[in-house]
Amino acid sequence: MKYYDKLIFELSRPGRKGYELPADNYGCDALKEIPADLLRKDAPELPEVSELDVVRHYTNLSSKNFGVDTGFYPLGSCTMKYNPKINEEVAAMPEFAGLHPLQPAESAQGALELYYNLQKALANIAGLAEFTLNPYAGAHGELTGLMVMRQYHISRGDEKRRKVIVPDSAHGTNPASAMVAGLEVIEVKSKPNGSIDVEDLKPLLDDTVAGIMMTNPNTLGMFETEIMEIAKLVHEAGGLLYYDGANLNPMLGKVRPGDMGFDIMHINLHKTFSTPHGGGGPGSGPVGVAAHLVDLLPNPRVKKGEDGKFYVENGDKSLGSISSFLGNFGVMMKAYAYILSLGKENLKNVGPMATLNANYIKESLKDDYLLPIEGACKHEFVFDGLKDKSTGVTTLNVAKRLLDYGFHAPTIYFPLLFHESMMIEPTETESKETLDEFIEVMHKVAKEARENPDMVKNAPHTTLISHPDETTAAKKPILTYRQMKG
Ligand SMILES: *Cc1c(COP(=O)(O)O)cnc(C)c1O
Repeated sequence: MKYYDKLIFELSRPGRKGYELPADNYGCDALKEIPADLLRKDAPELPEVSELDVVRHYTNLSSKNFGVDTGFYPLGSCTMKYNPKINEEVAAMPEFAGLHPLQPAESAQGALELYYNLQKALANIAGLAEFTLNPYAGAHGELTGLMVMRQYHISRGDEKRRKVIVPDSAHGTNPASAMVAGLEVIEVKSKPNGSIDVEDLKPLLDDTVAGIMMTNPNTLGMFETEIMEIAKLVHEAGGLLYYDGANLNPMLGKVRPGDMGFDIMHINLHKTFSTPHGGGGPGSGPVGVAAHLVDLLPNPRVKKGEDGKFYVENGDKSLGSISSFLGNFGVMMKAYAYILSLGKENLKNVGPMATLNANYIKESLKDDYLLPIEGACKHEFVFDGLKDKSTGVTTLNVAKRLLDYGFHAPTIYFPLLFHESMMIEPTETESKETLDEFIEVMHKVAKEARENPDMVKNAPHTTLISHPDETTAAKKPILTYRQMKG
């Protein structure tokens, strides 16, 4: 370990100071300016370090993070694509960044126009009537969308519809959001090829069903080819179709959820539209709806008047408010810059390139890794661990070994359909050279697993921390130095 990699408290030396106000500064005693009752009596329990110690410690620390700007990040279902720097520049423009949310609409026309245009662009991309950009994340969008679904049934006096059908392959947020929305979750089974079993769905559809939540392509990266049939069945039974569009990437500009029969959806701007994510935010999960649900969208709404001016309005049929003001505006700016810089022509190349990259990795690695579902995938796919499991090397071991080679691990142990899931999503922004290097390393790890399994089981070997107890780390995190010292 390098000296400055130590904890800041370990760099502490009694009496060492970063800065101290001089007692006599040419006749001006700065300390005297502070009222006596505001001066602290006991020394704070802070590390005693020089300014240079602090700068070196934190500068080193800042480079320890793994990010899409430092290396390949094939985290399935998360779409860790490159975040163009122009987006950051745009979002930092003081004309926008300096706005106050309570500013009158007349003095924030540019920002409202951006909001309005972005929601229109998304509506176009999705094949739906209108969007709200207010939700803060994908899961928040799901909750909002399900509230729209529930409100729709209530507004028609159809109160008994409280069940939401969710496939067993769904992202964990789907059933969780349905529960938070006060709805009941029923699971529909997947067929061996990963898609929804229509025969299993049919008996579930009765007059207590509010709707179905689906991801298409599903969490296994497979396109649900029977979607039109499913949409017909659900609609005939009086339910609505919710589309989890967190991973809209492979569909961009090619297929529109609205055309597949979906009534409500959310999009993750912080995935598909290249705004940065990870570490808890900030995100944005816009929700789009078909024409018959527009009035139910959350308040406030941005509208365009006959005079071409933009204004903010609270609709009286709305389900209410789900965010403060209009949501994470900075994220919207980045997504808008991304859409405008690609344009319609280039946006529709995103999906095919992401799909090509995913299939290239899948086909190149299926000799060493178990591919439970054959066939062309969309932007991501799932391996069920190593093909040769005889040496006991698990998906977790492989994931940790990848860190030694400078790659972020794929998503592991999700989806839950397989025991050793390894979900890989390269995205469209990676070059063939990067994909080839990843493929080579994955082959190398598979070979190591056969020849030197203990070494792989003890990985990672090059990271600062190598084997935290994962359960204790999550359940009893050590957050202070004092706690660590017992
Ligand atoms: C990421 C993701 C979500 C949740 O989005 P958050 O912004 O993390 O709340 C929902 N569904 C799918 C399929 C996802 O990949």
